[in-house]
Amino acid sequence: MGDQSSSPSRPLPALTALNRHYWTSGADGVWSLQRCPACERLIHPPTMRCQYDHAVPEWIVLSGRGVVESWTVNHHPFFPGIPTPYVIAFVNPVEDPSVRVLTNLVEVTPGEVFVGMPVRVTFEVGDDGIDDAVHLPLFTPDR
Ligand SMILES: [Zn+2]
Repeated sequence: MGDQSSSPSRPLPALTALNRHYWTSGADGVWSLQRCPACERLIHPPTMRCQYDHAVPEWIVLSGRGVVESWTVNHHPFFPGIPTPYVIAFVNPVEDPSVRVLTNLVEVTPGEVFVGMPVRVTFEVGDDGIDDAVHLPLFTPDR
């Protein structure tokens, strides 16, 4: 049993051999995505093969900077560990705007968000008592 006095945490992803690097690279303070060594496209979510040429992707470290492609504001309390309202967004890494990462924007009020907004990665450490290696990549305004 976990500590009953602590507040509930965000639901965390189940780590697999394929996705572990994505969810844990924040422990080193970096945001990583897969890149295809053949066509040099970034790839997300993690996969075994590039969908264009079937090359085996490699993990690379990104700048941590991105741009908001789209967003929505959630008001429904789906998870007690995430106070509402909160912003759900698609963020494109600056290294490859064709890649879309589903995430949350934090340290921002919903009225501040706009398409094309520059953002920067920040990590929330998982605290479900099962696997503290999870570092959720979230994004804040890059002011
Ligand atoms: Zn490729």
